[in-house]
Amino acid sequence: MQEKIKQLRQLTGAKPRANLGFYPTPFYKLERLSEQLGINLYIKRDDFSGMSLFGGNKVRKLEYLLGDALDQGCETVFTYGATQSNHAMQTATACRRLGLHPILYLNAYVNPDENDIRANMLLDRILGAEMHVIQSEPGETEQQTEQRCFQTGKEHVARMRQAGHKCYDVPMGGSSHVGAAAFADGYAELMEQCQQAGVSPRYVFCATGSGGTQAGLVAGHHLVGDRAQVVGIAVSRKNDEYEAYCAELCNKALAWLGSDARVSAADFTVDRGYYLPGYEQPSEAASDAIRLLARTEGLMLDPVYTGKAFAGLLDWVKQGKVKPGDTVVFWHTGGATALFSEKEIVGSINREG
Ligand SMILES: *Cc1c(COP(=O)(O)O)cnc(C)c1O
Repeated sequence: MQEKIKQLRQLTGAKPRANLGFYPTPFYKLERLSEQLGINLYIKRDDFSGMSLFGGNKVRKLEYLLGDALDQGCETVFTYGATQSNHAMQTATACRRLGLHPILYLNAYVNPDENDIRANMLLDRILGAEMHVIQSEPGETEQQTEQRCFQTGKEHVARMRQAGHKCYDVPMGGSSHVGAAAFADGYAELMEQCQQAGVSPRYVFCATGSGGTQAGLVAGHHLVGDRAQVVGIAVSRKNDEYEAYCAELCNKALAWLGSDARVSAADFTVDRGYYLPGYEQPSEAASDAIRLLARTEGLMLDPVYTGKAFAGLLDWVKQGKVKPGDTVVFWHTGGATALFSEKEIVGSINREG
């Protein structure tokens, strides 16, 4: 396994990478919660990835994405997301660090109140990112608004390119094959830490949204060949094609890294049981998970991603899918700024008791 990890590190190490975060991110056992749940629960703190206080999984992706952008001589970076997108905020932050110009196309799932701009949108403002907010029009579905957001952004990219500007176009969530490849490297990082700690996880849980994180972790797992199962907990509605889509993303990342290995949809475990009522819509189970982790470990999760993912992990333990004594890693992907966002996103977490 050591040799496989080394080979994987050689593949990822050959790619251009912008230095944005602090790696390896911390990895340790949650002693109190492990005892309470009767399992060996470890946490991978990608919420501590840097650059600013507000880290998260997008920093890992951006090291490769913006490394690629600089390699191609780009000066402007476009990306897309919800108004409270962690990815958009991290992209703006990383662009500033590297002297690139960030342009964000933000889709308003929750319409921002101009007199009370909060959380990631506030950070985008402080960072001085060029922001284009696409509000939903009467009769339009959320999906249609999102499509219009992508479309309007792409037209802007085309205009800029026509005028001779080199632009790097980052898809929503940073989930291109380049962004996903970052998590193959992240998986190698985790395996090194597991070896040091003398543990071999049975499960690695993460939140899955645009798919790049899980695609990369599965790529890493496939190359290392350890016994873990990567479990993605969906944070938004996913159609039946999602596993196949993730496998394709994973295979593109593997090819980009210069590996001949390939995976299939069957290599992806995606649990759709915990995202309701919907993306950026709070659930009672996520609120309970946030309170539990805060009160047993002093650790913060968020209502949109990690709260729902952790609620999934807890339910797998409760249902006996995770067995007593199993070693489980929770990949903390960040996102705690959402605790300070609009009340529609925060939900009932502020109630007493
Ligand atoms: C983007 C994000 C995710 C999901 O990662 P994907 O690669 O988009 O699937 C999970 N957690 C947080 C906090 C995020 O911001």
